[in-house]
Amino acid sequence: MEHRKVDDVKLYINGVFTDAISSEHFDNLNPYTNEISNRVAKGDNEDVDKAVQAADHAFHHGPWGSMKQKERMAYIEKIADLIANEAEEIAVLESLDSGLPISQTRKMTARAAENFRFYSRMVQSRMHGDAYQVDDEFINYTVYQPLGAVGLITPWNAPFMLTTWKVAPALATGNTVILKAAELSPLSANRLADIIDRAGLPAGVFNVIHGYGETAGEALVKNEKVKAISFTGETVTGKTIIKNAADSLKKTSMELGGKSPLIVFDDADFDRALDAAVWGIFSFNGERCTANSRVFLQKNIKDKFIKALRQRVEKVKMGDPMDPKTQLGPLIDKGHFDKVTGYIDLAKEEGCEVVEGAVPADMQAGNFVPPTLLLNATNDMRVSQEEIFGPVMSVIEFETEEEVIDMANGTEYGLAGFVWTNDIKRGHRVAQAVDSGMLWINAQNVRDLRIPFGGMKGSGIGREGGHFAILEFYTEPKAIHVSIGNHRIPEFGK
Ligand code: NAD
Repeated sequence: MEHRKVDDVKLYINGVFTDAISSEHFDNLNPYTNEISNRVAKGDNEDVDKAVQAADHAFHHGPWGSMKQKERMAYIEKIADLIANEAEEIAVLESLDSGLPISQTRKMTARAAENFRFYSRMVQSRMHGDAYQVDDEFINYTVYQPLGAVGLITPWNAPFMLTTWKVAPALATGNTVILKAAELSPLSANRLADIIDRAGLPAGVFNVIHGYGETAGEALVKNEKVKAISFTGETVTGKTIIKNAADSLKKTSMELGGKSPLIVFDDADFDRALDAAVWGIFSFNGERCTANSRVFLQKNIKDKFIKALRQRVEKVKMGDPMDPKTQLGPLIDKGHFDKVTGYIDLAKEEGCEVVEGAVPADMQAGNFVPPTLLLNATNDMRVSQEEIFGPVMSVIEFETEEEVIDMANGTEYGLAGFVWTNDIKRGHRVAQAVDSGMLWINAQNVRDLRIPFGGMKGSGIGREGGHFAILEFYTEPKAIHVSIGNHRIPEFGK
C-alpha cells in the first residue's frame, strides 16, 4: 500500500504555480497515519487579491470572454480527457488526502470527468434565451451571459468531485474562476490546476488559492470584483458567507449540511432497504452531506431491522484507504474525530444504546471511528438534530405515516430523504410531504446530473446541477426589447 509523501503544493495564480506572498506554509496530514504528507502554501488576503485581479483581467481583456463557444468547449472536453486518463493517480491522491476508500474515490474521479463532459453538452444544448413576441409591436428576447470572476469555495469531504461539479459549469458558461480549496484536502485541487494548466487554458481563467477559511476564504467573499460565490460546506459557515457577501451584493449559492431521514415502512423490500441504509451512512466514511443519519423504522419491523443492522455493523470492513477491500476509512482529521466521538459520548448521556464495530488494533494511528448505531434514539435528542458528519446513525421508531413525516421534518435541515415502501401512493405522498430538496423512493443516493441539486431550510439556498447551474447561477439573463412597430410614446412637454 502506498503512503508516500507528495510534493509540496503551491498556489496557482495567472497561469503560474507560486508560493504565497508571505512565504508561509501549513502542514497537510495523512488521516490514516497522522503523518505529514506535504506542505501547502498558505494563501491570504494579498494572494486572493492577486488571483482576483488575474481572473477579472482574463474575463474582460483575455481571449476567454470573447471566445467562440465551440472553442471554449474544446478546452472543457480536453480537461475531461486529462482527468479520465489520469483517473487512477487522482483517486490515489484523493484517498491519501481524505482517508476515503480507494474503491469510492475511483468512482468519484470518473464522475469528475463526466462533470466536465456533461457541462459541455449542457451549455451547447441549454444555454439559450427565449423570444417573447408582443403582437406586431415588439419582439423581446433574453440572452444568458457569464458573470465574470466567480469564487468557488469547497469542503474536504468529496473534494475532487465537488470541486469539478462547480468548476465545470463555471468555466463552460464563460466565467473565470478563483477556487478556494478546502485546507484539509488540497491535493486534488492542486492536481486540477495542473491539468487545467496542461489543457492550455489562457492565463488567469482558473486560479487556486489554498489557505484557511477565515482568512483566504473570507477575503474572496469580500472582494468587490468577485461577482458570485458558490459555496459548499457547513450551515454555520454559509450564514457567515451570506453576511460577508452582502456589502458587495454578491450572488451566492449555498449547498449546506444535512440530517437526512431514511424511512422504512413495514411493506418495504427489507433487504434492499437494509443495504441502502447501511451504505448511505457508512460510505464516504459517513462524511456525506446526503447521508441518512436518521433511520426511521416502522414498529413491527423494527426489531428485525435492528438485528440485521447490528450484524452489518460488525462486518463493515475498516482499513487502509488504499486497500480496494476497505469500506470505511479514517475521518479527515483529529479535530473532526474528536467532534464525532464527542457526539457518541453525548448519545450515551442522552440515553441511547450505542452499538459500534471494533477498530482493528493495528489502525490506532488513524482517525478511525467505527460504524455506529444509536439505538432507542428519539428525534428530539441533539444526536438526532445536529449534523455529526461521521459513520453514526440514529435509529428511531415510528408507527404512523403522519408521525414519521412530522419527525422527518422536525429538524433545521432539509437536504435529502429516502422513503422505502411498496405502496406506490404512500411513497409519493411521503416524498412530497418531506421538506427536502431531494427525495429518493426505493432507491439509494443515485445521482442524475440533470436534476436540481441542493437543499431547503438550513441545508441551503439555490440549486446547482443540470441547467439550473448554468441558467440560474453562473449566468445572468439579460432582456432585450426591440420595437418592430410604432408603439405609443407619451409626448411629454410637447
Ligand atoms: P466548512 O464550512 O468548515 O468549510 C468549507 C469551506 O469553507 C472550506 O474551504 C473552508 O476553508 C471555507 N470557509 C470556512 N470559513 C469560511 C469563511 N468565514 N469564509 C469563507 N470561507 C470559509 O465545511 P467542511 O467541514 O469543509 O465540510 C463539511 C460540511 O459540508 C458538512 O456540513 C456537509 O454537510 C457540507 N456539505 C454539503 C454538501 C451539499 O451539497 N449540500 C455537499 C458536501 C458537503
